[in-house]
Amino acid sequence: MTAEIICVGTEILMGNIVNTNAAFIAERCAGLGISNFFQTVVGDNEDRLAAVLKTAMERADVVILSGGLGPTEDDLTKEVASRLCNRELIEDAEWRKRIEEFFALRKSVPTENNWKQALVPQGCIVLDNKNGTAPGIIIEEQNTSVILLPGPPNELLPLFDELVVPYLSAKNPNVIVSKTVKICGVGESRVETMLLDLIDNQTNPTIATYAKTGEVHVRVTASAESEKEARKLIKPVVKELKSRFGDDIYSTDDETTLEKSIAELLKANSLSVTFAESCTGGMLSARFVNTPGVSEVYKQGIVTYSNKAKRKYLGVKKGTLKKYGAVSEQTAFEMAKGAAREFEADVAVAVTGIAGPDGGSEEKPVGLVYIACNVLGKIEVKEYRFKGDRGRVRDSAVSAALTLMRRCILEHYSEVAFGDNVK
Ligand code: ATP
Repeated sequence: MTAEIICVGTEILMGNIVNTNAAFIAERCAGLGISNFFQTVVGDNEDRLAAVLKTAMERADVVILSGGLGPTEDDLTKEVASRLCNRELIEDAEWRKRIEEFFALRKSVPTENNWKQALVPQGCIVLDNKNGTAPGIIIEEQNTSVILLPGPPNELLPLFDELVVPYLSAKNPNVIVSKTVKICGVGESRVETMLLDLIDNQTNPTIATYAKTGEVHVRVTASAESEKEARKLIKPVVKELKSRFGDDIYSTDDETTLEKSIAELLKANSLSVTFAESCTGGMLSARFVNTPGVSEVYKQGIVTYSNKAKRKYLGVKKGTLKKYGAVSEQTAFEMAKGAAREFEADVAVAVTGIAGPDGGSEEKPVGLVYIACNVLGKIEVKEYRFKGDRGRVRDSAVSAALTLMRRCILEHYSEVAFGDNVK
């Protein structure tokens, strides 16, 4: 089954608003196993909208439109769709009542053009919009369903999930199930190379990689007659991924973020953690506390931006700063050492780097970041060279710090386990 998305609005064409509706609808379609080959944005222009809609109806099973259902003159979507499908616009008595109630509730009076929103194409399915005065509409036309939805996201999103998803699911007989395998510490191109044979031979399930900052998600999607069947198809592929990526997989669960998986790792090993941040200015701490319940393992952290603060609060030596600089392996090392000591934590992660755009040199360019991780006194420091603007460098540093921390903890425990075995 194929879907095509058309978003109507001159505002979107002009770049005044971001087309979040298209992203939302496309994601939902993908989740339902419906292929989306085309997305179009078209202004509030009758002829151009008609041309786009006509083309879409010729090549897709479902055409989903957003916007242009409002009461004003330039809201044309319903009129254009009705004309193309040879339907008359008739008043829906139920929806007229809803408009009356909507305005009564808000103690205001509808204007004449508000009644336009009670007009629907003859023989259509009317979709209840609980958050606005324009109903959603489905016109079933020969082999194509044309679905018209209101533009405001606070109306479109709930309407889509409540009414359009069940409609599309009923039309698409197969069940689609996905599982996401989340990998950290391995770049996207390396992940793809390691999966090339699987990707080349994929049919069902399909395998797709998505690059995130510092992470790669591999989504395995199967289509089958039942959920059980689909899961059966997914299982051996996930097993194969686990054998290829091992410990670099931090989760196969949709809800689990990298920080959540680390919080669980710390809890499972009764470890406390602290962060000493320079260039990330608290972002690492902020990301870590995204996970509810981290207070069990995280008591305090510190931002030491200046050299003076690094010395005063973390005990970084004056000589170290002078000889190697604030952005150096040695400083990161002493920050992680001092943080664990000062804040009595089992694990301390320190970040120091040059986020830019200024402050770089040939020897120490923008994007150079040192991250140190101290696990029960064993300190590892890694050098990174991130690309991008200030925001991206800082985001990358946070992801890298989490990934390094995870690896150091896992390594520590595998060494302990190994030692135990030797005994
Ligand atoms: P209304 O009844 O509010 O006029 P409508 O169905 O006519 O709704 P539009 O007038 O096209 O929708 O858009 C109304 C508002 O909805 C826009 O100003 C914008 O804030 C938001 N919106 C519209 N289309 C999109 C889109 N594709 N992505 C994100 N937001 C959108």
